[in-house]
Amino acid sequence: MSGQNDGIGEWIDKRGRKLRAEIGRRFRSVQLPATPTICLFCDFEGHYAGASGEKYADIGTDRLLDLLERCGLKITFNVVADLCKTHPERVKRIRAAGHEIACHGWKHESPRDLSDDETIEMLQKAVAAFESLKIVPSGFRSPRSAWSSSLVRYLPHYQFEWNAERDGAWRPYRIHDLMFRVSVKTDDWDLVDGTSDAAGLFEKWRGVVAETKGNSGCIAIGVHEWIVGMESAYAEGLESFVRELQSDESMQISGIGDALPETG
Ligand SMILES: [Zn+2]
Repeated sequence: MSGQNDGIGEWIDKRGRKLRAEIGRRFRSVQLPATPTICLFCDFEGHYAGASGEKYADIGTDRLLDLLERCGLKITFNVVADLCKTHPERVKRIRAAGHEIACHGWKHESPRDLSDDETIEMLQKAVAAFESLKIVPSGFRSPRSAWSSSLVRYLPHYQFEWNAERDGAWRPYRIHDLMFRVSVKTDDWDLVDGTSDAAGLFEKWRGVVAETKGNSGCIAIGVHEWIVGMESAYAEGLESFVRELQSDESMQISGIGDALPETG
């Protein structure tokens, strides 16, 4: 096992030097958006979110894709890679609609719980699952924002260019030469744990948007397809919220990769 991983390590070092030469050049000239930006994303989890995920993923996917089409908005879907094998049609619909597809783990495992070898294995399997649908994701979002230093070290070797996690920063920053971190400020989990109803959730999000504008920031807010499917009042409010942001000329709303022009 260790012999095999020495081989992988060597391959990664070689690949990493090549990537540094290719990507380092591009990253030096990167311009972050001057306009305050809300990156909207969906953590796309299906049955990896348990029984509710299984039950509401399809209706949620329908609702979300229809809503985004009506609003003329492309966002980022952080897809659990194994869904490319178990529910390829669902993943293909996202791609066909023109949204960015990023990686939300192989089977929604927390990178913080993985050893170095297990991290490499997770990334290899995730990338292979996306490859089966000819998808090459450039972004990685850790399940539960539970990233690890080993994850961050290995991501560039699998052609990932950005990483989105819960973070205090108001603008994207480099974690190291090859990788941008985009800060996730909030999501729709309050609806699941009962902290708030849909109206309260949007009030909280409006506060985050106001702070982002005050900081000339560029941050990310997340939804889950199965929560959109489970909560119809939330799904309806989500369209109003998106339209509200779109009508505000002092800011913009986009996917994550689109806010990082050199990596999109
Ligand atoms: Zn998740």
